[in-house]
Amino acid sequence: MNNKRNYEYLLSDLSSLKGVGEKTKNILKKKNINNLFDLLWKLPKSYTDRSLSSKIKNLKIGETQTITIVPEKYNFPRIRKLPNKVLCYDETGKIECVFFNSYEGYVKKILPLGKEITVSGKIGYFKNKYQITNPKYVSEDSSLIKQVHNKYSLTDGISEKTYNKILNQIIENLPNFNEWHSKNIIAKFQNISWNNSIKELHKYENIGNYKSNFYKRLAFDEIFSTFLVNSEIRKKIKKIKKKNKIINYDIQNSIIKKLDFSLTNDQIKSLNEINKDLTSTSKMFRLLQGDVGSGKTIVSILAAINTVNSGFQVAVMAPTEILARQHYNLAKKILPKNFNIKLISGKSEPKVKKEILKNLEENKINIIFGTHAIFQTKVSFNKLGLIIIDEQHKFGVNQRKKLSDKGGIDCDVLLMTATPIPRTLTMTIYGDMDISIIREKPKNRKPIKTYSKLESKIEDVLKFIKNEIKLGNQIFWVCPLIEESKKLDHSSAVRKFEYLKKKFPNQVCLLHGKTNNEEKNKLLNNFLKNKFKILVSTTIIEVGIDFPNANVIVIENANKFGLSQLHQLRGRVGRGNKNSTCILMFKSNLSDNAKKRINILKDTNDGFLISEEDMKLRGFGDILGFKQSGIKNFKLADPIHNNDLFLLAETEIRRIEKNNEDIKKFKPLIKLYDRADVINDIA
Ligand code: ADP
Ligand code: MG
Repeated sequence: MNNKRNYEYLLSDLSSLKGVGEKTKNILKKKNINNLFDLLWKLPKSYTDRSLSSKIKNLKIGETQTITIVPEKYNFPRIRKLPNKVLCYDETGKIECVFFNSYEGYVKKILPLGKEITVSGKIGYFKNKYQITNPKYVSEDSSLIKQVHNKYSLTDGISEKTYNKILNQIIENLPNFNEWHSKNIIAKFQNISWNNSIKELHKYENIGNYKSNFYKRLAFDEIFSTFLVNSEIRKKIKKIKKKNKIINYDIQNSIIKKLDFSLTNDQIKSLNEINKDLTSTSKMFRLLQGDVGSGKTIVSILAAINTVNSGFQVAVMAPTEILARQHYNLAKKILPKNFNIKLISGKSEPKVKKEILKNLEENKINIIFGTHAIFQTKVSFNKLGLIIIDEQHKFGVNQRKKLSDKGGIDCDVLLMTATPIPRTLTMTIYGDMDISIIREKPKNRKPIKTYSKLESKIEDVLKFIKNEIKLGNQIFWVCPLIEESKKLDHSSAVRKFEYLKKKFPNQVCLLHGKTNNEEKNKLLNNFLKNKFKILVSTTIIEVGIDFPNANVIVIENANKFGLSQLHQLRGRVGRGNKNSTCILMFKSNLSDNAKKRINILKDTNDGFLISEEDMKLRGFGDILGFKQSGIKNFKLADPIHNNDLFLLAETEIRRIEKNNEDIKKFKPLIKLYDRADVINDIA
């Protein structure tokens, strides 16, 4: 019977388990546990050893102990609030079982007079008598009690007993899978099977044994399946044959020559990688990853130019209008005169919009700039060859795949993100894409001087700012972001705004969570045009906007932010060639640990390095909102502690890709673990 079970058994509904009724099922569903497989990751947190029994005279008060006793006398008081009691004995003494809020019938049933019953529970002592209050482990069959019982972090409404019962049921009935991994891989885990790994995982003596072969094997399965799904998506996209672009390098290079800076090595390398994709007959699906200010835009614009020169249209999308406009302006500055480029915005007159749409359809517009809404309205392109999407890191793998389908067969896709993340996370989140990385900052950048300051020294900060304003510079002032309370955020920003306004009349503006989009655009535009000197804000201003004239950022209550976040905030300044400053303000003296963190920021401006440190300090879920990114969290695998397993999985995937290995044997693995729900049609 067991041998016939396959992965489908583990994906079956919870009600197929004995002891799980509608009520339990619904409680578990609320916890996102929908099938037997999900339950397998409900691990014991600790355990209670009830296996050894004691005699009454040897009982230790305050400890959980197991005894075999005989009920002698019931004491069921008529007064409601008083507990029902059962006096019991063994050959060495007496003990009372005490039941609050119980029915007589129930008590009589579990503790029948004159029978030997095994009871386990915490021993109390009251009025010269041993007591067990509300014992839950009671049975005539001592073997059911005399065990080690696993303890789970309890979900309201489900008892420890139920957890033990249903988990034992699943574990006893695990399907016998054929090993899906290669010999080489499985040898790294002392050849332990998936099945046995699960069994080991649930043994109380193995709680917290993260270094064991079974734990690592299971973590590896999880990582590997994620990478395998990514790899399948990438393969599918790569299989799409497109019409290749032909690049006019003379034009490209003459434009590069005219720039008032020279490209960094990483920019050139990324551009070459993109060009190679454009000229290939497989569809491009590439991510350009680089810190804020690393100069991704110019690389993407050059790719756009190359695409247009090859006879195609390009769509450039940014998350906000103001950002779309900056890209548009940059393009206008450097593009050959014969290019027709347009910006489509929410504010465009219907007439203008209509005209743009018509021209797009007739291939009279070469590059269209806009927000992500470009694709939400009904736009039909004549010959779309490249989609460029800026500053996204909140797309899940599903959304990306849809996007790559949207542009049509001949359309390449280039995504850009200014969120440097640790390599293990990049492999997990963007494994479906090819990746170009700009790590090197433009040479003219001066390091951002980073200071920490106690809030009580605010006068020093004001003095500093005054001087900067005198020099014609602008300042960002970021107020504490207290996630738990939007209201508090708001009021603290307003208060700071009022305070600064008094010190700097007519020079301060405020941007907060309640500012609507239109107002926000207006405000940011005014700030860009230098109409205000200080911008007080709570919300994170779009990381991509270039404010070349702002060179100071003050971050209040800086300990509320993670390192990566502080780095991103800091990245809003220091984009031009001015000296720039980041002042981190704190309410009280820093602990040694906090000092260590802040020193990392002071020491380096490398976002990738900072994100690695941040992940070590805070775990990966917290890094820049990846929790909301649509990637599901791993159940066991940990990008920090299992770094080696991520690398191993990557190597194995490359090997499988290279040998063009049939992945049918991984079917159960993918079916069980598919975290992206994208592969439905394997085998
Ligand atoms: P991001 O990678 O954050 O999108 P941008 O593309 O907005 O960065 O570039 C930030 C600024 O740096 C822009 O003003 C841009 O013109 C400038 N820049 C880009 N590349 C270089 C370079 N190689 N040398 C000097 N400045 C550069
Ligand atoms: Mg940018």
